[in-house]
Amino acid sequence: MTKAWNEIDSLVRIASGAKAPLEKRDPAGDDLFPDRAHAEAATVENAKAIDKLQDRLWAERKRALLVVLQGIDTSGKDGTVRSVFNQSGPLGVSVTAFGRPSEEELAHDYLWRVHAAVPKKGMIGVFNRSHYEDVLVVKVRGLAPAETVERRYEQVNAFEKHLSENGVTILKFMLHISKDEQRQRLQERLDEPEKNWKFNPGDLEDRALWDEYVKAYDAVLERCSTAHAPWRVIPADKKWRRNAIISAIVRGTLEEMNPSYPKPDWKPTDFKIV
Ligand code: AMP
Ligand code: MG
Repeated sequence: MTKAWNEIDSLVRIASGAKAPLEKRDPAGDDLFPDRAHAEAATVENAKAIDKLQDRLWAERKRALLVVLQGIDTSGKDGTVRSVFNQSGPLGVSVTAFGRPSEEELAHDYLWRVHAAVPKKGMIGVFNRSHYEDVLVVKVRGLAPAETVERRYEQVNAFEKHLSENGVTILKFMLHISKDEQRQRLQERLDEPEKNWKFNPGDLEDRALWDEYVKAYDAVLERCSTAHAPWRVIPADKKWRRNAIISAIVRGTLEEMNPSYPKPDWKPTDFKIV
């Protein structure tokens, strides 16, 4: 039996203030979408429904949806965008990838580039990495003083509260893969010529810091899962399961938002097209 989306959601959502160590969360997630064929069919159906809902969101033009994707290298952030939004027209969905900040970006506060990329009313915006890098890679690699990073958790919560009170619904997904799955995915990037371009020797440096990243993620999940913007930890060792879960939650959230087509202040019969 398929679980309803909100039942799936309640299994992956982190309650506000809960201690939620990744170690206790299974990256396989067999109990969520046990069947592959079913999960793949559900993802296609969800992607189509998301497109229809996006059309209504755009017509209504009062609210936006922000989807934040975080996860260690190879966790499947790009693949998620490709499968969850592949039915959505390019006009309604904006995708922003956050890499190492430019000189100009570093000359501003760390939320500057992020705020500028928040979707406008009517849009779905997807962040491939996000402001969370400023408490993840920055913390793990010591790119800013510890006290600076420490202050950011509350700043991020305040920023997200501000957005949510201004018409932006926020969905945050942490794509959770096992260290062994990452080994296999990195190996594929070396073995398969068409994947060579994805290999970045720097990823091995981050892999060597695996335990530090887990700790940094644990701090994020514990401190930045709020009522207005909770984290979801998605079992992501199986790509098809990850896609099914995320597409179900995006679809369910949009259905709950229930955007509506505006009512015109004229009647179609008022006009005659000659
Ligand atoms: P990729 O997502 O594989 O294109 O890699 C982007 C890289 O940019 C990753 O190694 C991130 O850790 C890094 N990155 C993203 N945001 C920041 C940031 N605020 N400070 C430093 N590095 C960052
Ligand atoms: Mg990378």
